[in-house]
Amino acid sequence: MKILKKDIVIIGVIIVIAVCFLIYNSVNDRKGTGVEITVSGKLYKTFPIDKDGVYEITNGSEHNTLVIKNGKVNISEATCKNQVCVKHKSISKANETIICVPNKIVVKIVSDSENELDGVAK
Ligand SMILES: [Zn+2]
Repeated sequence: MKILKKDIVIIGVIIVIAVCFLIYNSVNDRKGTGVEITVSGKLYKTFPIDKDGVYEITNGSEHNTLVIKNGKVNISEATCKNQVCVKHKSISKANETIICVPNKIVVKIVSDSENELDGVAK
């Protein structure tokens, strides 16, 4: 099989993308320390992720029920029509989000420490 110059370029590009992806993932793999709630583009509230709780997030007549349990966050109930946020899997890592488009509610995991790595024993 003859390897063409074009193939080498393609392989090179794939390797570069793979490496970038790995770096991005390791950077992104931080444990969250807080849950930031944005309603209609404005910061609504920030909750600690290590404290279990159930919170009502309201936006006018719409509301979403936020559940924080064992460091994982999910929406258990919402008044939106599409229920995408309810079906979304639980999030726990920094920068992960659950967005409820109809209710304009964004749930985002934030991390206080930029250097805090996941998996560090407490
Ligand atoms: Zn929703």
